[in-house]
Amino acid sequence: MRSLLITNIGELVTGNPAWGEGPLGIRRNAALVVDDRRVEWIGRAVDAPAADARVDAGGAAVLPGFVDSHAHLVFAGDRAAEFAARMAGQPYTGGGIRTTVGATRAATDEQLRTTVARLRGEALRQGTTTIEIKSGYGLTVADEARSLRVAREFTAETTFLGAHVVPAEYADRTDDYVSLVCGPMLSAARSAGARWIDVFCERGAFDADHSRAILTVGADAGLGVRIHANQLTEGPGVRLAVELNAASADHCTHLSRADIDALAGSSTVATLLPGAEFSTRSPYPPARALLDAGATVALATDCNPGSSYTTSMPFCIALAVREMAMTPAEAVLAATRGGAAALRRDDIGHLTVGARADLVVLDAPSHLHLAYRPGVPLTTTVVLNGELV
Ligand SMILES: [Zn+2]
Repeated sequence: MRSLLITNIGELVTGNPAWGEGPLGIRRNAALVVDDRRVEWIGRAVDAPAADARVDAGGAAVLPGFVDSHAHLVFAGDRAAEFAARMAGQPYTGGGIRTTVGATRAATDEQLRTTVARLRGEALRQGTTTIEIKSGYGLTVADEARSLRVAREFTAETTFLGAHVVPAEYADRTDDYVSLVCGPMLSAARSAGARWIDVFCERGAFDADHSRAILTVGADAGLGVRIHANQLTEGPGVRLAVELNAASADHCTHLSRADIDALAGSSTVATLLPGAEFSTRSPYPPARALLDAGATVALATDCNPGSSYTTSMPFCIALAVREMAMTPAEAVLAATRGGAAALRRDDIGHLTVGARADLVVLDAPSHLHLAYRPGVPLTTTVVLNGELV
């Protein structure tokens, strides 16, 4: 494979304080060599060795590719009318998920694949080099399995979310649906290549006992655990995530002091999804309290057609800085290393020697511009797994 030199980097965000200044480990006037899909060399631009190909960053900032650890890309239909109704004052309840389930079941494999490809392309053009993709709009054995097979064509980070909501045909038979999820649906999800299992633990979805049962059987089957927790209410999801040593508790919008302390004392990442609060006009999660307590925080898009139809990690960074009192450095770390931690990966989310060569060149001199220039497409070049995109 051809080696690649990226030189004349005004600000190289290594993402590791041991490799440069400040929490982002920043190096100035730097260069970086990629070989065999890894970062092989980092140093001063004036010392840069030759390589087969060369990119002149022109003094711009180079960052690790964004890690979006929470996305629902396998679906059909759109819910723009529901969004408009919400903006006109109707509250968000999560019930619209069933609308998407109907459309998804009716779609062909090719329609689902086309939607995932379009959204994955959008995300990549904005600098997302790793994306987690969930099932959860099929909610039958066959439809969950095919959702995961389609997701697996685009990412290794696939998540079985059969416990998204109880589908209409199981109304008032939640126990029966949980048995289906824990039995034949889980088996089919494993065969379809699922790496993770997830549950929407929330009033109106799955309670703590059902969530624990599903996640425990999933973990016993070898899947990693993640939870949609405390999005709409101060529920039991976060405590369950910590109890089960989940990789991530996602949303974390309504947290008690005990929830924050539990996350801070655990290896469970608090994954914040500010696109959901933006799109449902809801209060933002207490990022400052989580960071001050010492919790590991990730940012992700929650891309889905109902409550957060964005693929943009830069938009989430801007929201985190403006609305959640995170510093730009904290937000960039959360969108890179934080996302990697939420996927229990140490090969991505940073740019140090040996890391996977996933990186973004910005049309800006500094990472600060991601929040300072919201809504502006700043990504000019993306390297994905060692190759220029
Ligand atoms: Zn979600």
